[in-house]
Amino acid sequence: MESASSPKEDFRDHLSTADKDGRRQWLFPRKPHGPYFRARTYLSWLLLAVMFAGPFVRIHGNPLLLLNFVERKFIILGQIFWPQDMIISAVTLLIFFTGIIVFTAAFGRLWCGWTCPQTVLMEMVFRKIEYWIEGDSTEQRALAKAPWSGAKIFKKLSKHALFFGLSFIVGNTLLAYIIGTEQLYNIVTDNPANHAQGLVFMLLFTLIFYAIFARFREQACTFICPYGRFMSALLDENTVVVAYDYKRGEKRGSLKRSENVEQRRATGAGDCVNCFACVSVCPTGIDIRNGTQMECVHCTACIDACDNVMAKINRPRGLIRYASLNGIERGEPLRVTPRLMGYCILLLGLIGLWMVLVFTRSEVETTLLRAPGALFQQTADGRFSNLYTVKVVNKTSHEVPIQLKLENSNGELQIMGEAIVVAPEKLAQNSILIMLDKSALKSGTTPVVVGVYSHGKRVQTIKTSFIGPRDDTAK
Ligand code: SF4
Ligand code: SF4
Repeated sequence: MESASSPKEDFRDHLSTADKDGRRQWLFPRKPHGPYFRARTYLSWLLLAVMFAGPFVRIHGNPLLLLNFVERKFIILGQIFWPQDMIISAVTLLIFFTGIIVFTAAFGRLWCGWTCPQTVLMEMVFRKIEYWIEGDSTEQRALAKAPWSGAKIFKKLSKHALFFGLSFIVGNTLLAYIIGTEQLYNIVTDNPANHAQGLVFMLLFTLIFYAIFARFREQACTFICPYGRFMSALLDENTVVVAYDYKRGEKRGSLKRSENVEQRRATGAGDCVNCFACVSVCPTGIDIRNGTQMECVHCTACIDACDNVMAKINRPRGLIRYASLNGIERGEPLRVTPRLMGYCILLLGLIGLWMVLVFTRSEVETTLLRAPGALFQQTADGRFSNLYTVKVVNKTSHEVPIQLKLENSNGELQIMGEAIVVAPEKLAQNSILIMLDKSALKSGTTPVVVGVYSHGKRVQTIKTSFIGPRDDTAK
């Protein structure tokens, strides 16, 4: 979506945050003001509350979200997922990736500008602290150039101390999402010698977040984040993006005091007065008038900035706005394309499948395998027996008593040893003996069905086979 009359056609040849020798150019974006920024601020309060409270929120005693990759234990919305829930995990991943595709194809990088934790923390927390301590863009530039003085040292030290403290909180929150609040509490309150690994991760996460928010900043979005990189493959001419209406804006030129709108129009000038307000607020340092760029995180700061300018010069707002290429070039309304419709149907199908899998999955996962090396035995009363090993995984956070019942007639199931009671989130193993009457046997192997019960309710049904004698041996 590039302006045909864009005066700077070489913008794709270099990074907006590097000089011609490749050195980092530090950005001092101006503080945005306007309805979009206000809406993002309110949304950020909600998101920050959810983000920081998330590890402490419990649903049926389980955290809202826990992603323990080390122990391969995952809890989403209070539901525990085990490695045994492979299909659910695979469908969850498919939903995640399809969701990204659908969302990006329809709304570009809306996620980045409004809800990505990196943008929310950077623009709504760390950047605001910077404005509070060092002032707006102009004061920040002046402070950066100023020689070191007591006031400058005080400002820089205060800012970085606050940044470090906040990074510690953010790092610990991430750790709580990985290991859980109980383990995090143990690390903090117990003898440090017992938690060297946990403390190392705590420090590591703090340093990583401090480096990101104090130094790395927009580079995380423009260099590291893969989302921005594959975005270009997902956008089409109907995708809604933050866009400059070059038809209305060009030919750009500064507004002369003596000129009114009609006189300006008569000279062939567009509505863009080349004030660079949109560029000065951009946290990634780009000029949106050059068209859609990978660095644009759709933060809407340039929309607010330009709308403020339009209001001052009595021109309609929306020179920069949410729009599609077709909307700007041909004035077409936003529409749902067949491609997007296909993605949506696929996504809805996957969500439906996920819900069926989650709501019909059992609280326990039982496997029944014949004991290795054991064949059948004949008992004193003439029946035949097979020995099995039963393993029961308890996926809940409470104790689950298990009863096993042979559903075949003419047979019996005996649990060897104590009754099976599976501790929360643990696995229990036991041996069982299945005995069948001679009359129930088929030659060779006989299918058997074992019901797994808890509190009198069948929670799983297992089909397995019973080895018996061949016809000639049995008779
Ligand atoms: S803020 Fe609007 S008027 Fe000013 S340079 Fe940007 S697009 Fe042009
Ligand atoms: S171009 Fe506009 S929407 Fe994109 S990052 Fe810059 S200020 Fe945000």
